[in-house]
Amino acid sequence: MSTSSLPSADPAGLTPKLVITMEPAVALDPRKKAPAPGVPPMELAFGFPRNFLDNRYVYVVISPRARGLTLGVNLTPARTCTFDCAYCEVKRDEPVDSPDIDLETLEKELYRTLAFVESGHIRRVPSFAALPNDLLQLRHVALSGDGEPTLCPRFAEVVETVVHVRALGRFPFFKMVLLTNATGLDLPPVQQGLKLFTKQDEVWAKLDAGTQEYMHRINRPRATLEKVLANILSLARQRPVVIQSLFCTIAGQEPSELEIQQYAERLKELTERGAKISLVQIYSAVRPTANSGCGHLPLKSLSRIAAYVKKTTGLAVEVF
Ligand code: SF4
Repeated sequence: MSTSSLPSADPAGLTPKLVITMEPAVALDPRKKAPAPGVPPMELAFGFPRNFLDNRYVYVVISPRARGLTLGVNLTPARTCTFDCAYCEVKRDEPVDSPDIDLETLEKELYRTLAFVESGHIRRVPSFAALPNDLLQLRHVALSGDGEPTLCPRFAEVVETVVHVRALGRFPFFKMVLLTNATGLDLPPVQQGLKLFTKQDEVWAKLDAGTQEYMHRINRPRATLEKVLANILSLARQRPVVIQSLFCTIAGQEPSELEIQQYAERLKELTERGAKISLVQIYSAVRPTANSGCGHLPLKSLSRIAAYVKKTTGLAVEVF
């Protein structure tokens, strides 16, 4: 274990190397439903919830980490997950309309929504009407959902469906991004689906903790940290993986210095064992959560964590 300390509160000399893409704390206060007056629409857009339009599976959202518009495919309408994160936005106590994946409907929705974006008709949605063009360029199609997408028994078929729509060539090329907590990356349907990923496609894997103890507090998982790390390592030896790490306060407490050191150590161990990690994304809880004990971590704290990770691991780090 490293005994070095985190950078001091003044990250001078370190933060300029980081990409600070936005200041989320003002416009995106998770407790506020209505925007503060005078906040520009572009900043507000990053706080809007997903919009399913009239779809069952496909939604649109402006994503800060994608730097613009993404289409998401909900692979887990049943809201199943191997984690129960303290910051999770999913309300699992509400009834599930239809837990199954209907591939035909999903394909139609994806096609229709891509056309909706491509034609510019997305501006008819009030929350998108005033956004700059750049923000409405499609960044990617995310395999994501109301739970952990790798738990979807039809994962491989969903990937096939998205790849099929892409191969039609009706729309400009889009990349697929799998957003996962990594616990199911070793499942057979997932392994099968990942074979269809091209070099342009990406996997963004969640890693919020460096110790099992902290993982129990933040992710409240039905899987071990060891399993998550093993799955990330296995995949990242084959193709680059983006690590997504959310840090927040729990009961008013920031993650401890020791926890951040341990988290950075896990990343270092992964790279030393052959994992290709193309980027570490560090951010905090943004939208309203069902758990009021989880709070937003200020940009200053996120920047300190990022600076420490960059210094310790040499990896590319971005703060959102
Ligand atoms: S992994 Fe995602 S869906 Fe699952 S509990 Fe955590 S935030 Fe929610």
